[in-house]
Amino acid sequence: MGKPTGFKEFDRKKVEWRLPIVRINDYQEIYTDPKEEQLKEQGARCMDCGVPFCQSATGCPIDNLIPEWNDLVYHGRWREAVDRLHKTNNFPEFTGRVCPAPCEGACVLGITNPPVTIKNIESAIIDRAFQEGWVTAHPPQTRTGKSVAIIGGGPAGLAAADQLNKVGHSVTVYERADRIGGLLTYGIPNMKLDKGDVQRRLDLMAAEGVKFVTGADVGRNVDPKQLMAENHAVLLSTGATKPRDLPIPGRQLKGVHFAMEFLSANTASLLDSKHADGKFISAKGKRVVVIGGGDTGCDCIGTSMRHGCTELVNFELLDKPPQERAVDNPWPQWPRVFRVDYGHEEVQEKFGHDPREYCILSKEFVDDGNGNVTGINTVRVQWVKKDGRMVMEEIAGSEKIIGADLVLLAMGFLGPEHYVSEILGIETDPRSNYKAEHGKFLTSVPGVFAAGDCRRGQSLVVWAINEGRGAARTIDIYLRGHSTLPAPGVTMGSALLTSGSWT
Ligand SMILES: Cc1cc2nc3c(=O)[nH]c(=O)nc-3n(C[C@H](O)[C@H](O)[C@H](O)COP(=O)(O)OP(=O)(O)OC[C@H]3O[C@@H](n4cnc5c(N)ncnc54)[C@H](O)[C@@H]3O)c2cc1C
Ligand code: SF4
Repeated sequence: MGKPTGFKEFDRKKVEWRLPIVRINDYQEIYTDPKEEQLKEQGARCMDCGVPFCQSATGCPIDNLIPEWNDLVYHGRWREAVDRLHKTNNFPEFTGRVCPAPCEGACVLGITNPPVTIKNIESAIIDRAFQEGWVTAHPPQTRTGKSVAIIGGGPAGLAAADQLNKVGHSVTVYERADRIGGLLTYGIPNMKLDKGDVQRRLDLMAAEGVKFVTGADVGRNVDPKQLMAENHAVLLSTGATKPRDLPIPGRQLKGVHFAMEFLSANTASLLDSKHADGKFISAKGKRVVVIGGGDTGCDCIGTSMRHGCTELVNFELLDKPPQERAVDNPWPQWPRVFRVDYGHEEVQEKFGHDPREYCILSKEFVDDGNGNVTGINTVRVQWVKKDGRMVMEEIAGSEKIIGADLVLLAMGFLGPEHYVSEILGIETDPRSNYKAEHGKFLTSVPGVFAAGDCRRGQSLVVWAINEGRGAARTIDIYLRGHSTLPAPGVTMGSALLTSGSWT
């Protein structure tokens, strides 16, 4: 514990984001450079609790050794801090930027005071390590002679690849997109996670011997059975890529899109040509309605703002969350409270209001007479308790048309697509995910494992890393009979964040 009185002396102070009105003009990351003194003070606030809930229990899903690196940062021992961080996290530069930080929700200081800014410290440690040149490639000294095919190059597949390669297995990642990274690349936009950060890590992994094959759509242009025959094990990490639709009248109108159609095309066009190729859905000069909250919704808002939309409304079916924890949501659970994310802040600054409209139901997309959407017929709803359950009721007389030229559906995902699993004969669970127990990760087909959103349903980057690391360990045991790879923990409370939060 760096400074026994630190938590009494210093207040929580987050690393600031760039000014909304400035940052909406570009796609650079929203973060500012942290000040070392500020980070040290935050490190000093850590009480090194006997039971560090932040790194276990309901906190960090990969058991990051938070109090240890808080102390190291307080003492200016950054080099050791990054070594400690890499023990549990393959990609701290990703989680340090995009993780919702369940660790902070579980921080013991949070019972009486605002928690330590753990995520800022994590991000600063790894950024400094890259700047100082401390993060270098370490290819394994020997190879085991075993090979593993990983299908899907998102964070789950990448974490597994990194771990398996470390112990000497030959790993090839097959990805159907033209770039590796999964939602790190084509979901989360640049302003939240710069693609240079992703590429830097991929370059390191390639230098350590991991092979990447892009444009490999397994089940369509690559035969998964052949991958099974040619490798000693196969890992499915194909993500939860089936979006939830809104099949109301007018769904076929031009201008109604799934969020991922909008976000992926935007990033691809930005990376390929800085938008010069025009191969993206533009929100410029349009009235945009984003249906659904969570991170996907917020990313649609932030991207529309950068395009230059003229209006922005974000529909939420549920009620506005409370400002403070409700009585049935005590510490150390993830606090289900009202938050202002970067996109909301940008709309507030530019248009003078928060974009979110709560308790609103879309009934019909309105046609402009030429097959284009021009509005949404809506009705207000209320949530009432009936037989112990919350039930939605429409409020008579509250019908209203909200104008819209572009509608983005960000209502979550319904599990993985099944064209690979059907060829391999893999069983699915009642939620249509690939059936495999957490901790074992083995599917119904011997030698085929599953990890990440395709196994647990839509979730978080940090959970994808947890699953990739866990699957790597069980694959290693399957291949060698034992493993020196660590088993990631099974934290509980973060499970509260695993469905519905990132819609
Ligand atoms: C817009 C958006 C924003 C998000 N923001 C955040 C955030 O801020 N913080 C956070 O923690 N989480 C966020 N999430 C969730 C997070 O990105 C996911 O939980 C995480 O990426 C899941 O990792 P994964 O590796 O399981 O799957 P994915 O990242 O989905 O990767 C799966 C990969 O498999 C590939 N694939 C699928 N089928 C095949 C096939 N047959 N052959 C070859 N390749 C295939 C896909 O192309 C994809 O690249 C967000 C999600 C979305 C959609
Ligand atoms: S990965 Fe997420 S939960 Fe874990 S320490 Fe980092 S911010 Fe916290």
